[in-house]
Amino acid sequence: MSRAFNFCAGPATLPESVLKQARDEMLDWRGTGMSVMEMSHRGDAFVEIAETAEQDLRDLAGVSDDYAVLFMQGGASSQFATIPLNLLGDKASADYVNTGIWSKKAIAEARRYGGVNVVASSEDNGFTTIPDQSAWSTSADAAYLHYTPNETIGGLEYDFVPDSGGVPLVADMSSTMLSRPVDVSKFGLIYAGAQKNIGPSGLVVVIIRKDLLGKARKETPTMMNYQVMAENGSMYNTPSTYSWYLAGLVFKWLKEQGGVTAMGEINARKASKLYDFIDTNEFYANPINPRFRSWMNVPFTLADDALNGAFLKGADARGLLNLQGHRSVGGMRASIYNAMPEAGVDALIQYMTEFVKEQG
Ligand SMILES: *Cc1c(COP(=O)(O)O)cnc(C)c1O
Repeated sequence: MSRAFNFCAGPATLPESVLKQARDEMLDWRGTGMSVMEMSHRGDAFVEIAETAEQDLRDLAGVSDDYAVLFMQGGASSQFATIPLNLLGDKASADYVNTGIWSKKAIAEARRYGGVNVVASSEDNGFTTIPDQSAWSTSADAAYLHYTPNETIGGLEYDFVPDSGGVPLVADMSSTMLSRPVDVSKFGLIYAGAQKNIGPSGLVVVIIRKDLLGKARKETPTMMNYQVMAENGSMYNTPSTYSWYLAGLVFKWLKEQGGVTAMGEINARKASKLYDFIDTNEFYANPINPRFRSWMNVPFTLADDALNGAFLKGADARGLLNLQGHRSVGGMRASIYNAMPEAGVDALIQYMTEFVKEQG
C-alpha cells in the first residue's frame, strides 16, 4: 500500500510513523492486553498516557506551571462559545480582530453572550492582509482580546504577537499550533482544534493562564467550565481517550524532529519554496500580502478557472490529494502542516510545473 500526499486542510495528514505505531499498538497497548480505546480513563495505563502527552506538550510549547493544559471536546468551534462564557466575567465586552472566516465565526458566536468590539478588520480588502496594529481600536476595559493567528481558509498568518496592553490575549491557534516557536507567556488563553497539527478531530487543546480560571458565568454548562475541567484533569466526563493518545504520539514525534524550532525552520522552507514557485510562474497566483502569507495553508489560483477540474484530476492521479480550495474562496489550497514532508511540497511543485507545460 502506498501513501498519498494529502494536502487536506483538516482533518489533515498525520506522520506516517505515528500511524504505524498506533497500528502496532492497536490490539495490545504495551502488554496490557487491551487497545487504548478499551481502557478505563481512570486506570493507571491511560492516566500515564494522558499525563505523558500533557508533559510533552508543555515541553514542546514551553508552557509553565502558571498555565493549565486542558484536553477538551467539541473542536475549536465549541471554544467560540466557551471563551466568552468563561472569560467575560463582569466586563461588558471583549475585543476581536476580524481577519477571515474563522475570526468571523468566533465573533458571531461571542455576540450571543456579550458585547463584541471588532477592533480591526481586513474584510474590505478581501482578507489579504493583517491590519496594522497601530490602528486597532482596542479598549483597556475589554475582558480579553481575541485573534486568529492563522486564517486556515484564506491563508493569512500574523508574523507578530499583538500587544494586548494588559488585557488577556486569546488566540485560536488551530492551524498554526506547534508549527513554529511561540512565547506562551504572552497569552491568557490559547486553543487549537487537533485535526490540523495535533491529532484526530473532535479533540481541542486549551492552554489557559490559571488566574483566568473560576470566572465562568453561573449558567455555563459544566462541560464548558474551564475550572471544572482543570480541577478534574480534563476528565470530568469520559474524555476522547484515543484522540488524546494519538496527540501524545504526535508530540513524541515532534520531539524527535527537534521540537518547534526545527519544525519552524522546515515549515518556513516548505512554504517559501511553494510561494517562490507561484510568484515566478505567471500561470499561478496568490493574493495575500507577502509579509502575511501563511506557512501552513497556501491558496493559489490558476490563470484560467476553467482548468481547475483538469488540474485536480491530474493531481489526484499522482497521489496529490485534496488540493481543492475552500468553497468560499475557490481555486486551490495546499495545506502543508508539520506532518507534510518536504518531499510532498517538491512533488506538488513538480506537478504544477508539468501542468503548465501541458497547457502549452
Ligand atoms: C479548523 C479551524 C477551526 C474549526 O475547528 P473545528 O475543530 O472543526 O471546530 C477553527 N478555527 C481555525 C483557525 C481552524 O483552522
